[in-house]
Amino acid sequence: MANNIISVIIPVYNEAENLSELYDRIKKTLGSITDSYQIIFVNDGSKDDSLIKILSIAEDNPKVFYLSLSRNFGHQIAVSAGLEHCDAECTVIIDADLQDPPELISELYTKYTEGFDVVYAKRNKREGESFLKKFTAKLYYRLLKRWVSFDIPLDAGDFRLISRKVVKAINKMPEQNKFLRAQIAWLGFKQTHVFFNRETRKHGKSGYSYGKMLRLAFDGITGFSDKPLLFVSRLGFVISIFSFLLIIYAVFSHYILQVTITGWTSLLISTAFIGGIQLLSIGVIGEYVSRINSNVKGRPLYILDSTNIGVEENNNS
Ligand code: UDP
Ligand code: MG
Repeated sequence: MANNIISVIIPVYNEAENLSELYDRIKKTLGSITDSYQIIFVNDGSKDDSLIKILSIAEDNPKVFYLSLSRNFGHQIAVSAGLEHCDAECTVIIDADLQDPPELISELYTKYTEGFDVVYAKRNKREGESFLKKFTAKLYYRLLKRWVSFDIPLDAGDFRLISRKVVKAINKMPEQNKFLRAQIAWLGFKQTHVFFNRETRKHGKSGYSYGKMLRLAFDGITGFSDKPLLFVSRLGFVISIFSFLLIIYAVFSHYILQVTITGWTSLLISTAFIGGIQLLSIGVIGEYVSRINSNVKGRPLYILDSTNIGVEENNNS
């Protein structure tokens, strides 16, 4: 049996200015649902005063816990660390920057009591995010949805409630390259959603650089689909056939038609073209190989610096 009814996991990377308001709003919302809750802050190597803020909140309230990672491991790993340490019948994952309204937790919980194992928050509107980010995200998730064999919800991030069953299943998934929203979709179970308006971040700036975003996008594809590999091997096949036909044509025109094709342009273009395709294909294979590499090493997903949760079996999954 779980010790709490609700657990809330909050990944924190340089969010010092947001934490007091966030905590107040979460506490108020949870208080209106039950007294049996825990809040887990995961400090993901923040460089500002986030940890100090978290420590003082934890000191005031015995329901507040924290995990402090030894450096910045990234949002998905921070959440995964929280999932390994939470102890409740259901768990909510929420951002620290107040883009996800804490008040929505009540609605998520209501759906949970109706028997759903996954209740994700679907974005109606996304405010204050660049056109480029919204456009690429839209394109990416539609592509991913076509490439995987299960149903990935569109316009949803990691803001969601999951039951204990789902948390346990997630904790058993050993991959190093986490992409939780897809992992949860892959698991199945009874899923539903509620709508909300995603607001602009309250203070500070996004911890997701374009580099981190791109890595997450590649993790999503390589983790759940072999389509890119199939695509490059088919492309190689088609181009081989095409060049074979070209060779036959060249020989035919030289010996039979007595016409020899002159000129460097076609040679140059085709060499560059094939070169480009080859590099691209090697790159795609490389993306998979690098993930095999990191999984084979089997390093711990993260290193804990400090925590106030009883440390027993964690930390080396
Ligand atoms: N975050 C984290 N580690 C990181 C980057 C972000 O724990 O390396 C946290 C961040 O504090 C926030 C959540 O993950 O609570 C979402 O990050 P952010 O708001 O920067 O992403 P965006 O909303 O811009 O996609
Ligand atoms: Mg944000």
